[in-house]
Amino acid sequence: MTVTDLTTIPFNRTYVSGNELDYLAQALRQGSTCGDGPFTARAAELLGGITGARRVLLTTSCTHALEMSAILLDLRPGDEVIVPSFTFMSTANAYALRGAVPVFADCRPDTLNLDERLLEAAVTDRTRAVVVVHYAGVACEMETITEICDRHGLALVEDNAHGLGGSYRGRPLGSFGRMAAQSFHGTKNVQCGEGGALLLNDADLAARAEIIREKGTDRGRFFRGQVDKYRWVDIGSSYLPSDVLAAQLTSQLEDFETIQSRRRSVWRAYHEGLAGWAARNGVRRPAVPDGCEHPAHLYYLLLPDLDNRQAFIHHLAARGVQAAFHYQPLHSAPAGVRLGRVAPGGCPVTEEVADRLVRLPLFAGLDEAGVARVIEAVLAYEVR
Ligand SMILES: *Cc1c(COP(=O)(O)O)cnc(C)c1O
Repeated sequence: MTVTDLTTIPFNRTYVSGNELDYLAQALRQGSTCGDGPFTARAAELLGGITGARRVLLTTSCTHALEMSAILLDLRPGDEVIVPSFTFMSTANAYALRGAVPVFADCRPDTLNLDERLLEAAVTDRTRAVVVVHYAGVACEMETITEICDRHGLALVEDNAHGLGGSYRGRPLGSFGRMAAQSFHGTKNVQCGEGGALLLNDADLAARAEIIREKGTDRGRFFRGQVDKYRWVDIGSSYLPSDVLAAQLTSQLEDFETIQSRRRSVWRAYHEGLAGWAARNGVRRPAVPDGCEHPAHLYYLLLPDLDNRQAFIHHLAARGVQAAFHYQPLHSAPAGVRLGRVAPGGCPVTEEVADRLVRLPLFAGLDEAGVARVIEAVLAYEVR
């Protein structure tokens, strides 16, 4: 069934690249479905190729990869970690779990990424790390951010859930931080339902990361014959995915170029098809600064206000198009207020864009007829 046979064009749909069933059968027949099997190794190798990371550890989710990064940073209660307010809660929750205080910074009005001009004012003598999110896969201003982190001795972590395959001045996203976290959740460009990876660009972290991922044991060394028994040597948890999930992920990663080019063509069709309508209606389309290649993770529009955004979503739904709003500010969320604090100046841009933003359907299986239907439905809306 093609997408256009559906009465409603869904916001997202799992893309099947073709080899999944074959690989899943292989994974089931290989005699063990535990983690760190052949498909886990293959998926990690493919990810290393895309991101240039020195070491890739597949995890059960991006949330867990972020939690591993928090353990690796040895955060202590009261340490501060600067995060954007406009992001998924895991970006902050991972550090709050270690007793650290998330400090919420505002985003840039154009890219909706952490505003590098506000970063330095958020640094205190308790700050230990900065976590950036490349929203929609469009890079943060990495030159300025890296320079500020270096000058203040802060660790940089990339929550690269949106950015796989994107780049900043020719360098892959995920290669800037000491660590980067990827997501393979069913809503991301490359998927296995639930899954993630921790990318390590600092080779010194690799040995401890492996232990943390294996419940705090040196089991990896034991399987390699480097120790004669494995023991509990550090804190950790169970962050290793089954090789069955890695089989699905491998199939998608092998088809990465096709997935990306299909998503890019949907993105471009929206961007071109909606340019005149957006200009007439005071709607803002995504901004992509020079030097940023993005992986078409999502296509968003900024309506003039909340009333128009809500009316627009209802208008599209009535025409069989499922659109979605996105992140609600973390600094004013119940847990954000309790566990974190807001950076000087507050987060006025985050508050405003959270109310105005809407995302259109975007997935690799969305065909031309489906895209045309979405565009037609959008063009029929007039901002009031
Ligand atoms: C999806 C997402 C996550 C969480 O990913 P999971 O793999 O579901 O844990 C974290 N951060 C951002 C920015 C995301 O988009």
